Amino acid sequence: MGIEAAIPTDNVLTTQLRRVVNWARRSSMWPMPFATACCGIELMATASSRYDIARFGMERMSFSPRQSDLLIVAGRISVKMLPVLQRIYEQMAEPKWVISMGACASTGGVFDTYATVQGCDQFIPVDVYVPGCPPRPEMLLEGCMAIQRHIDQEGIPPKGGKRVPLGIAVAPTHAVRPQPVGLGLRN
Ligand code: SF4
Repeated sequence: MGIEAAIPTDNVLTTQLRRVVNWARRSSMWPMPFATACCGIELMATASSRYDIARFGMERMSFSPRQSDLLIVAGRISVKMLPVLQRIYEQMAEPKWVISMGACASTGGVFDTYATVQGCDQFIPVDVYVPGCPPRPEMLLEGCMAIQRHIDQEGIPPKGGKRVPLGIAVAPTHAVRPQPVGLGLRN
């Protein structure tokens, strides 16, 4: 009895095809930036030569939702702007992923007002939450890599392509420094 009897050929071919498709998919994610505030500046910095998002095959920022598969929500979302965000999400082709970048996009941040959406995940599915105010470019890259790892492990999406949100929260990559001496609050 040879190995072909133990492992049916169909399965091997399907696995290999799945790997190739996932490799292509994870190596050419095209981001759709939805940058509304200061987090957008960090998003732009991520594309600069210092952080070089092109290393991940993601330098092709697409301002056309139909040609992008990674929505990056960077900044606070006002209630008035929400339908636009939802429309852009719906126009993106499946399979698609969403990163919520920064405290404002994930929770409303310090803007606890009736006009600000208190977390975009209430209205669109979010795969990865990147914490910070603002998150550094390294943190955003961590979030992108979390999605790439997920694609590596995932098979070809089922017909219809709808997926549940991953809900991954990226842990900070650095320890918080102590307050500089002499800058404490006085009683
Ligand atoms: S999380 Fe901070 S840096 Fe990002 S949009 Fe909100 S206030 Fe600006």
